[in-house]
Amino acid sequence: MESKIYIIKRKEQITEDTIKLDLVPEEGNPIQYTPGQFMILTAPSGTKRAYSIASAPTQDVLEFAIKQVKGEFTSQLETMNEGDKIPVEGPMGPFIYNTCGEYVLIAGGIGITPMVSILRDRDGKSECEHVTLFYSSRTKIGLAYYDELREIDSRNENLKTIFTVTRETPEGWEYETGHVDEQMLKKYLTDLEKKRYFVCGPARMVDSFRELLKTLGIPEENCTFEGWNV
Ligand SMILES: Cc1cc2nc3c(=O)[nH]c(=O)nc-3n(C[C@H](O)[C@H](O)[C@H](O)COP(=O)(O)OP(=O)(O)OC[C@H]3O[C@@H](n4cnc5c(N)ncnc54)[C@H](O)[C@@H]3O)c2cc1C
Repeated sequence: MESKIYIIKRKEQITEDTIKLDLVPEEGNPIQYTPGQFMILTAPSGTKRAYSIASAPTQDVLEFAIKQVKGEFTSQLETMNEGDKIPVEGPMGPFIYNTCGEYVLIAGGIGITPMVSILRDRDGKSECEHVTLFYSSRTKIGLAYYDELREIDSRNENLKTIFTVTRETPEGWEYETGHVDEQMLKKYLTDLEKKRYFVCGPARMVDSFRELLKTLGIPEENCTFEGWNV
């Protein structure tokens, strides 16, 4: 694990409650990582929190998308500005994603960040196996990276992206509504028990998938879960 000072190159609001930070090393080479890993960021007060990396290793910035939940770290986001220094430690995370493998990715809310890294990394690699992404949010405008994920989907035949919103039916909506459940999985997937699953999002959602995938007979070793208190 490495520690390095980064500089906030760009800070941008990407949904009504999500801030994207693009970081570059203050000096020297960036810390190397693989898609699906996370780093520990330190806020100005010294509070440390884990954040999944949203960028792909080939990008020249280290990107994070952070949901503002008014907690110890996130309430300091307002005071963190472009040009400021931010200590970064990592990478961490037991889940080393085989970018080209066959996966079912299930993201709830800001749990999309490691999936964005993974999908950016395999973008254009037609030799990769098929991936299905289920991405749920309460509302369409709450779907971070929506436009980019649609673009990545449209140019990769080995990717199927299913967005679903749980609190509304947007006008002209061509995707799903409601939570991802057994019925929705079976609508889009065959041979469920043979696939590998990566589930990431709020802890309660992840716990319910732990149960569901078990009920569906998916071997535990085929599942990776990352639940966050957001
Ligand atoms: C491996 C890993 C990867 C992660 N990746 C991401 C990521 O990519 N993006 C992301 O956004 N998060 C991510 N998280 C979650 C992140 O680490 C923090 O837990 C989250 O940002 C909340 O930190 P905080 O210090 O602001 O909240 P804390 O102070 O730690 O509070 C914890 C929770 O309490 C509640 N809370 C606390 N204070 C208040 C308040 N005043 N008002 C209302 N609610 C309150 C909030 O619901 C908050 O989520 C990840 C976590 C892990 C473990």
